[in-house]
Amino acid sequence: MSFVCLLIHFPALWLEDVLNLKYSGKHGYDMRWVGDAFASQGHSTDGSPQFNTSSPIPVPGTLYSISLSLPKYRDFYSFMKFSAFSFLFLVKSASSFSMTATKSYLAEIPMGAPDAILGIADNFKKCTDPNKVNVCVGAYRDENGKPWILPSVREAEKIMMEDPAENKEYASISGDAAYVAQAVKFAYGQDADLSKIAAVQTLSGTGACRVGGQFLANFFPVKKIYIPDPTWGNHINIFEECGLEVVRYRYYNRATNGLNLDGMIEDIKAAPEGAIVLLHACAHNPTGCDPSVEQWKTISDLIKQKNLQVFFDSAYQGFASGDAEADAFALRYFVEQGHNIMLAQSFAKNFGLYGERCGTLSFLTDNADEKERVMSQVKRIIRPMYSSPPVHGSSIVRTVLTNEKLTKQYYEECAFMANRIGSMRTLLAEKLKEAGSTHDWSHVTSQIGMFAYTGKFREETTI
Ligand code: PMP
Repeated sequence: MSFVCLLIHFPALWLEDVLNLKYSGKHGYDMRWVGDAFASQGHSTDGSPQFNTSSPIPVPGTLYSISLSLPKYRDFYSFMKFSAFSFLFLVKSASSFSMTATKSYLAEIPMGAPDAILGIADNFKKCTDPNKVNVCVGAYRDENGKPWILPSVREAEKIMMEDPAENKEYASISGDAAYVAQAVKFAYGQDADLSKIAAVQTLSGTGACRVGGQFLANFFPVKKIYIPDPTWGNHINIFEECGLEVVRYRYYNRATNGLNLDGMIEDIKAAPEGAIVLLHACAHNPTGCDPSVEQWKTISDLIKQKNLQVFFDSAYQGFASGDAEADAFALRYFVEQGHNIMLAQSFAKNFGLYGERCGTLSFLTDNADEKERVMSQVKRIIRPMYSSPPVHGSSIVRTVLTNEKLTKQYYEECAFMANRIGSMRTLLAEKLKEAGSTHDWSHVTSQIGMFAYTGKFREETTI
């Protein structure tokens, strides 16, 4: 500010001397700075700004204005000199102002790497090739390549629109309790003991992983999470953000394009007691390769023996086999075997509610008291993070799952999507063969869910 004062003050004195103009209102010119309420022409003794009220009212937003009473100049030469000075003065003042005003810490921000999955999706949007095919983001498309809103979801929305009890108020920190109860039964089974399950609504599956990961980082003594190699790319970011150490266990055998059970067992055996193991409940992303029933039993035994904490990520219940009940096998088996599991659930894919961000995080506890304590801490994590979840998607799921007719319809539609994915897999393998590929594509049909691991190596692929 004082620099700006000097800028104004000295040229004014110079004008007085050189051009023989008088530096005051009585000689007919004044300078003012509009915007920061500082006038060079007059300061009161306490330094507060004084405007010449006889001058025109300053235009808001103008940095500097100089008002001149031209007839007071003695000759044209003086006027020209003063005009030149005024122009230079304005430029100088504006540039000195912009130098100080734009000093920004943002100038030092380095460019971040694009997200491995969504970065490719952005490039897909930019690509103008009319024959482009998006094989990147896991989102269901109909036979015209368009997103599909499940008719049961549409029906639920109509019911909600007519329902006077629906509103747009804030949900509580833990979300819509009626939705949460339905979501938990969807995963654990209709006869699940809700008195022992601490559960909150979350921002889809990602939000469930994030809040669950934070809970583990805050309260678990061993801050190590074992995740499959490969896994959904965001798992690594999420758990590292939470402050957990991410360790990979072998999961996929590239030679057989199947599960590497031996590698998985060996790596999980090496985990310290109390560590956390992340398991995909079904339709493993990105390999589409799940353990068989027998293999799940082996994995469960090992985890129990090692006293590890299981964190199930269930983003595709219903998408693997077309039957949401069958796809809950691993989760329900672990519960039966006495594991105190954690579960991240997403309704993005199986209900087609991608953008609604609807999910749950649940913990199977030993008793009602433990449940309440866990709930209290989870809410403490959520409150400063996003306060409360969005309500539209959860209202849809609640409406569908509390309406017998809509539930039945929904199960059929989910099976329809899963079956269509299955037939697309068969078609893809056939067409690749027809196109002359000699590669063995049988794993494309043996894998399940939305993802097909091509078995191709990086060197064989161009993106
Ligand atoms: N877990 C896995 C394994 C996933 O594949 C996904 C989605 N790709 C998610 C969680 C989370 O998805 P969302 O946040 O959209 O529910």
